[in-house]
Amino acid sequence: VQFYASEMNASIDEKLGLLEGLRAALDSCQDDDAGACQFELLYQPKVDLRSGRLFGVEALIRWHHPEQGLVSPDRFIGLAEESGLIVPIGEWVLRTACAQNVAWRAAGLPPISMSVNVSARQFEDKRLVERIADALGASGLPPQDLEVEVTESLIMRDLGRSVDKMRELEAMGVSLSIDDFGTGYSSLSALKSFPITRLKIDKSFVADLASCADDQAIALAVISLGHKLDLRVIAEGVETEQQRDFLRANDCDEMQGYLFSRPLPAQALARLLADGHGV
Ligand code: C2E
Ligand code: CA
Ligand code: CA
Ligand code: CA
Repeated sequence: VQFYASEMNASIDEKLGLLEGLRAALDSCQDDDAGACQFELLYQPKVDLRSGRLFGVEALIRWHHPEQGLVSPDRFIGLAEESGLIVPIGEWVLRTACAQNVAWRAAGLPPISMSVNVSARQFEDKRLVERIADALGASGLPPQDLEVEVTESLIMRDLGRSVDKMRELEAMGVSLSIDDFGTGYSSLSALKSFPITRLKIDKSFVADLASCADDQAIALAVISLGHKLDLRVIAEGVETEQQRDFLRANDCDEMQGYLFSRPLPAQALARLLADGHGV
């Protein structure tokens, strides 16, 4: 009993420590001294499977913890979500991503689209639409060049409200995509009513695509469903040429993954665009 109790305390202490750290990190990003900010956004290219061109990026957050070094989002997004800190952190993500996209084009690079992940708590925030409008307004990014990635499970939590909110974003000109598609439970009839432009095939179905008949069947089903609903279909987690070739041969539209590029710091992404990989 003693043993379990102390184990449990350790994990609670660890959580509290991380939470305190998260608050400090958020603080460090509130002033204009960008160098002090412990959060960073990396940008992973999204590539058109037919032309091979980079048409957009997904912003992925990184936390440079002063003592622990790099902390991956899998370790802190859940905690940020539970504590509500995801709302201000998400606002920082939105503002930074929009401003970065505008900075690239101001530097003469070809315009691309920017995708930002929005988690359940952020999506349910009453002011989400306003926050997005503010980030667009402050940066000057056209709404058409911002995409919001939401998961199916998030939408299904409160279907009616989710669809209303999606429609508000659509009316603003912002696009929506469904992340991790196939891992949740959206009914096909619900999917028909979503004002979305893209389905993203989760990387768990892409990993064994070259060898696993079940994963191939799932990928094919998502591609065909997406196309019947007039959506674009993107596969995430594409690491090998075999995976890419399978997707291309089966009419998937776009891909994202280490095969083309890992998530990159803003400057490295700018170099890719400058080297002519852009649209
Ligand atoms: P996600 O949205 O499903 O993002 C895809 C994850 O797959 C990213 O992990 C990305 O770095 C990784 N990835 C990309 N290509 C490959 C590949 O070829 N192979 C493999 N094995 N992995 C690949 P990351 O960056 O660690 O992010 C993890 C999750 O954290 C994301 O999953 C997303 O749910 C969440 N997240 C990241 N940034 C944000 C953010 O700014 N806001 C919110 N709310 N969530 C975020
Ligand atoms: Ca995503
Ligand atoms: Ca995923
Ligand atoms: Ca995810």
